[in-house]
Amino acid sequence: MDKKGILVVAEPKEGKLANVTLESISKAKALGMGPVSVVVAAADAASLAPLAGKYGADKIYVVDSPELSVFRPAPYADAAMAAIKAADPALVLCAGSPDGRDVAAALSARLNAGLLVDVTGLEAGSDAYIATHPCFGGNIIVEKKATTGMAVATVRPNVFAREEAAGAGEVVALQVDFAPYGLLAKVAEVVTENAGVISLEEASVIVAGGRGVGSAENFALIQALADELGAAVAATRAVVDAGWKHHQSQVGQTGKTVAPPLYIAAGISGAIQHRAGMQTSKCIIAINKDADAPIFSFADFGIVGDLFTIVPALTEEIRRRKAAS
Ligand SMILES: Cc1cc2nc3c(=O)[nH]c(=O)nc-3n(C[C@H](O)[C@H](O)[C@H](O)COP(=O)(O)OP(=O)(O)OC[C@H]3O[C@@H](n4cnc5c(N)ncnc54)[C@H](O)[C@@H]3O)c2cc1C
Repeated sequence: MDKKGILVVAEPKEGKLANVTLESISKAKALGMGPVSVVVAAADAASLAPLAGKYGADKIYVVDSPELSVFRPAPYADAAMAAIKAADPALVLCAGSPDGRDVAAALSARLNAGLLVDVTGLEAGSDAYIATHPCFGGNIIVEKKATTGMAVATVRPNVFAREEAAGAGEVVALQVDFAPYGLLAKVAEVVTENAGVISLEEASVIVAGGRGVGSAENFALIQALADELGAAVAATRAVVDAGWKHHQSQVGQTGKTVAPPLYIAAGISGAIQHRAGMQTSKCIIAINKDADAPIFSFADFGIVGDLFTIVPALTEEIRRRKAAS
């Protein structure tokens, strides 16, 4: 396969770059298939470029425009197209987020390029990139490739490691004439769902509850610990199926994949389908009353005991130490 390189379409997020963008840069770098370039399109794109360089980007295309202050797929796709023209990559990686999927679909249509969605594994094959993608509720893992030459892919957040690396970090400003039709859509209001709630994908600490928590009301215990730690709350599928938590909180094969520095699992057995979504967390602490629960076989620290005693005690101790410091 030729080594034309990979272009990552960055997703600006709250004055930074989304973790999935940094993960995509790291993965592209690790594949070693030519230069890794990134396009950052935003109203403050120039200030975000250094972060892409820190994760090993060789070239960072910057499209700075007030038209990009809120997300609209067409102008973002215009910006990405300008960078694709300049970089001529073999593969374009977009975020596997609602916005990233929108841009990826537009790029794939404009380029007449194959679209590989929800990528959880990526290798360089002899004639094309091979992408892994779980489907049918995670029951089947598919390996697929595009037969169109250049391919566009959306990367699932938190599956690839994020590692700082040396890159040339050359910044290239691009002037883009946005297609007038793409600017016709006006964003009247941006409503952030669960405003103030820490998102699972970006959280550095997650407190997760399983069926052992017992009821929706009992999740107040999990929430209290999470609040003390500045953590996000997650749940197993058993909890979601019981209606105690929304599907957005589900971690696992058919939920979200997370990899925070700290994952606390309370009342979770550690079924393979849950493990698939959190096993790359840096440190896993399990609280379970059954000493033989599978989760203890892969947790870094385990507490065998009743979560209704342990979780409030932990919360209280953290509160006490914070007050004392
Ligand atoms: C195709 C497919 C996809 C799936 N996808 C997912 C997925 O994405 N995510 C997911 O999570 N699951 C998924 N599942 C379901 C998965 O197989 C398990 O059924 C589920 O993870 C179990 O959830 P749990 O650990 O909360 O419940 P359980 O397995 O019932 O475990 C509850 C645990 O709580 C402990 N416990 C009970 N009371 C207490 C207490 N007072 N104190 C301490 N510990 C206590 C028990 O000892 C037990 O270990 C999937 C299944 C299939 C077939």
